[in-house]
Amino acid sequence: MSVPSHAKFLIIGAGVHGLSTGYHLARELRARGTGGGADVLIVDKTGIAAGASGIACGVIRNNYFQPAMRELMAHSVSMWERNPEVLSYHPVGYMQISPEVMHEGVASIYEQQRAIGYTSEFIEGEADCVAYMRGIFHDWQARGITSVLHERKGGYANNKTSMRGLAGRARAEGVRIETGIRVTGFRSSGGAISAVETDKGPILTDYVVVGVGPWIGSIWAMLDLPPAITAVRNGRTQHGVKMWRYLCLQEGTLGVDPNYQKTNDGRMPPVVHVDADAPLYSDLDGSLITDRLWGIYYKPDFLFNGVQGGAQPYAVDKEDVDIDPYGPESPEFVVGEDFIRMWCSALAFCQRRFEGKSPLYKREPSGGLGAFTPDNFPVFDVFRQNCYIIADSNHGYKMIGVGELVAREILGEPSALLRPFRFSRYAEGRLHPVSKSPFPWS
Ligand SMILES: Cc1cc2nc3c(=O)[nH]c(=O)nc-3n(C[C@H](O)[C@H](O)[C@H](O)COP(=O)(O)OP(=O)(O)OC[C@H]3O[C@@H](n4cnc5c(N)ncnc54)[C@H](O)[C@@H]3O)c2cc1C
Repeated sequence: MSVPSHAKFLIIGAGVHGLSTGYHLARELRARGTGGGADVLIVDKTGIAAGASGIACGVIRNNYFQPAMRELMAHSVSMWERNPEVLSYHPVGYMQISPEVMHEGVASIYEQQRAIGYTSEFIEGEADCVAYMRGIFHDWQARGITSVLHERKGGYANNKTSMRGLAGRARAEGVRIETGIRVTGFRSSGGAISAVETDKGPILTDYVVVGVGPWIGSIWAMLDLPPAITAVRNGRTQHGVKMWRYLCLQEGTLGVDPNYQKTNDGRMPPVVHVDADAPLYSDLDGSLITDRLWGIYYKPDFLFNGVQGGAQPYAVDKEDVDIDPYGPESPEFVVGEDFIRMWCSALAFCQRRFEGKSPLYKREPSGGLGAFTPDNFPVFDVFRQNCYIIADSNHGYKMIGVGELVAREILGEPSALLRPFRFSRYAEGRLHPVSKSPFPWS
């Protein structure tokens, strides 16, 4: 393989953000008559979709408590809708099903979705929620649910297929994607990046885009950015806050025919996300699993070949976290028996059809690491003058539209949608509001 010696725009990472940014940079350059895909090079140490984008559950939703996230997601959902076949997108909708402790917060999400024209329905009160859910799934039986937010847009996409579709689009614009090239450092000139060092030799460049998902910690260090920062939360200044921490996402697949989860009228169902505070018991032996707030999500998926989904991630509490080997190949960060017992019992808590089905759980390695920011929301910003970092705090498969906004920012068109995600928000205390959800990304 011949490694190019120069690229006007060099993108590190062939996941959703690198590919989307490359594709949009090419289109924007062409539209402006200032260049095209030949100016864009994407490098990846492994391959297309080798990171989080290739193992993501693929859920696409708008349900965020933070106004800035909702507006950004509405933009991204519109990009999924524009290219459903190429992106292997299934617009089945999404349901946030919640207990009373989350009622007020979800009600405000619904109101603000209406305000931005994002189609959803909101059902309140325990009896009405049961009736609404049984209208979709006759066997619905979750207890203690007092609100249902049903987003008519969104749904899910097939992880690797969508990334291959996006890569195809980028290549069709003339973007070069080179795999098997690992970035090992940066050269600077006058404070700006002048070249990227790789294991195959240096590549001179005018502009760098970083979209490396869970590997952001290593690139952050290569750029001499601070491992710990000052953050102002609720008027209190905290020093030495770790910039990156890792959570392990727990996901798996129940090996039933995906058609098993069809709705009463025989359609493919919306993605179901349930948070609950009713005690959760094992559906096999009746033992208590948790009496604290818990949550799961699931959808039938023909590529995972079953009903696939997940539960809350757990924090990885150690100093040196081995990102590689990544995902299912990791000996450390894949799901274990606790997840299987919890998730399968929670499925049965929600729908009778899943009772006693945990023996059908597919015992293959699944789950994977994500790198999270101090407030669990993305950082989209320029560092070292000419290095754009897209760090989505690991809930960004759905954020496919960010690349379009980033491409325009790089070419001199600032984006109001990206502004709330600047790095300076930590020091300035402009953090996003926090929801009562048991998930860090809601
Ligand atoms: C199990 C799991 C389930 C998820 N489910 C969802 C979901 O349902 N919905 C959702 O919105 N989000 C989900 N996410 C989060 C989402 O997958 C990520 O936020 C998103 O895919 C990150 O995209 P990325 O392009 O930044 O990085 P990645 O997709 O991780 O791509 C980064 C690429 O950078 C390459 N790379 C890294 N370091 C280097 C280097 N030094 N040199 C060259 N190349 C390098 C890697 O090989 C990799 O291919 C999930 C994440 C996980 C782990």
